[in-house]
Amino acid sequence: MTEEEGYIVVLGCKKCGKCDNVCPTGALQKDNNGMIKIDYDKCTLCMKCVEVCPNKALVYME
Ligand code: SF4
Ligand code: SF4
Repeated sequence: MTEEEGYIVVLGCKKCGKCDNVCPTGALQKDNNGMIKIDYDKCTLCMKCVEVCPNKALVYME
């Protein structure tokens, strides 16, 4: 993934778990506090997590 393609940022994750199984590449992971973080080496920018998050905590940045 290059910078030109953009990336997903996590802003105010509420730990609701709705995005638990949506990532097809396993890029969406939880840290020790249950907060979502993204493995940018695995993320393909498919946008599934962005669409599923009810709290708009996952945001695509160009
Ligand atoms: S955009 Fe797609 S590949 Fe990237 S973290 Fe979200 S669900 Fe996974
Ligand atoms: S769906 Fe959104 S608020 Fe819920 S755990 Fe995932 S990133 Fe956090």
